[in-house]
Amino acid sequence: MSELKERLREVQERIAEAAARAGRSPEEILLVAVTKTVPVERIQEAIAAGVEHFGENRVQEAEPKIEAIGHAVTWHFIGHLQSNKVRRAVAAFDWIQSVDGPKLLDRIERSARTLGRRPRLLIQVNVTGEPSKHGISPDRLKRLLDQAAPYEHVSIEGLMTIGPLTEDTETIRSAFRRLRELAEAVRQANYPNVQMRHLSMGMSNDYEIAVEEGATMVRLGTAIFGPRPT
Ligand SMILES: *Cc1c(COP(=O)(O)O)cnc(C)c1O
Repeated sequence: MSELKERLREVQERIAEAAARAGRSPEEILLVAVTKTVPVERIQEAIAAGVEHFGENRVQEAEPKIEAIGHAVTWHFIGHLQSNKVRRAVAAFDWIQSVDGPKLLDRIERSARTLGRRPRLLIQVNVTGEPSKHGISPDRLKRLLDQAAPYEHVSIEGLMTIGPLTEDTETIRSAFRRLRELAEAVRQANYPNVQMRHLSMGMSNDYEIAVEEGATMVRLGTAIFGPRPT
């Protein structure tokens, strides 16, 4: 078995075990393989091994890969989206997981309208308030969701977060739990045009905790493709 297949099998096993610990079904959890710095041939290898969702964090790096591979698989934008790249991101990606403010949301809606697309969106939340991180603060989330009420060209489907950079698993766990609680609060408030179906949380170093805390998407790079060149 190839190295990639072996890594993939291990990841799937760990996801299934973490899901079982939380009384969840592994089918609730979507694996998004993060392919930044990964060349097209290796992405094809992952597709051959059964991966169907891919995440990229730079529009200019992703465009030629998406062009080469096409849309039989699903593409997720997971990086910080600059306003001058919105149109290209909307044209190329099926999901944008990193919506983190009112201006960006408005630009996505307008680009989607002109391009005749309807991207699926997650709102990126900075639950721990780390200043180095992108993402909207939890207290601004409701206003952002209110803004989306009249939008017809986007579909808001959940929340995304990046776990805190620490070895302390309880700190990581409480951040993921916080995201789940936020999503629950939003669900109960019944915002028009918002469906809290997805929680995108968990990367190679913390995805098992994320699955235990309710993740429906995990975003894995190194766990699948090995260490990235630095
Ligand atoms: C790079 C990246 C990942 C994957 O990171 P790994 O630690 O390699 O799994 C996940 N999410 C985002 C937003 C990223 O930028």
